[in-house]
Amino acid sequence: MSSKLLTIENLTVSFDGFKALNNLNFSMDAGELRVIIGPNGAGKTTFLDTITGKTQPTQGTVHFKGKNLAKFKEHTIAKMGIGRKFQTPRVYLNLSVRENMTLAHHKHKTLFKTLFPKSHWGDKDAIAQLLETVGLLGKANSPAALLAHGEKQRLEIGMLVAQSPDLLLVDEPVAGLTDEETEKVGNLLIDLAKDHSILVIEHDMEFVRQIARKVTVLHEGSVLCEGTMDEVQTDRRVIEVYLGQQDE
Ligand code: ADP
Ligand code: MG
Repeated sequence: MSSKLLTIENLTVSFDGFKALNNLNFSMDAGELRVIIGPNGAGKTTFLDTITGKTQPTQGTVHFKGKNLAKFKEHTIAKMGIGRKFQTPRVYLNLSVRENMTLAHHKHKTLFKTLFPKSHWGDKDAIAQLLETVGLLGKANSPAALLAHGEKQRLEIGMLVAQSPDLLLVDEPVAGLTDEETEKVGNLLIDLAKDHSILVIEHDMEFVRQIARKVTVLHEGSVLCEGTMDEVQTDRRVIEVYLGQQDE
């Protein structure tokens, strides 16, 4: 059995004959903070969809903690320890920041029990700790609707962590954020990476430079190259596929 957290072999996903992923091979170790970059249409979101079971492989395999995910449904894969942060925030706007975090923390409980957690006062510390980590303790009682876009992103990243996944998948967390918010999200991911395995999909090169250790470049559904940010940025093939495509 592999010691890798995630191993993807010869993965192909076809949509009506069009290969969004084409014989892709990829692996990451537990504890890694990995960034995947690639131009629009490279297959990044499809790649995440296939890991989470939202999309089925046409060919090839995804192994997580040594288990082949082919037989499992999306909600089972989530329970096995893969948490996903979607591109747009999905927080409950009418609930406070603390209530959102509490819900995520007790996801297996009913909404009612979660909002009136008589038997869970011990968890208050953990929730406050998480709010502090994402920099929102001062706004714990504000309705989530009043948060800025970047604050919502940080709240949702915290809500993901509250469910203690073994692998966090984060899709374009800084799209549409100001430079200041982008840096905060970057610092949060760096902080979380001390004790989590994180796979980030990102388009924003400045952000990737801020957080990246090892970078995987996707192009036309396959891995084009892998290495440090400096290595991939000076790779001739990467320059070619990005030339004229960076409009941000
Ligand atoms: P990225 O996230 O890197 O921009 P995507 O994974 O969203 O790329 O898409 C990769 C390619 O697959 C694109 O050309 C896209 O149009 C195509 N694609 C994605 N999902 C579908 C789908 N459900 N049906 C048909 N084509 C799709
Ligand atoms: Mg995408």
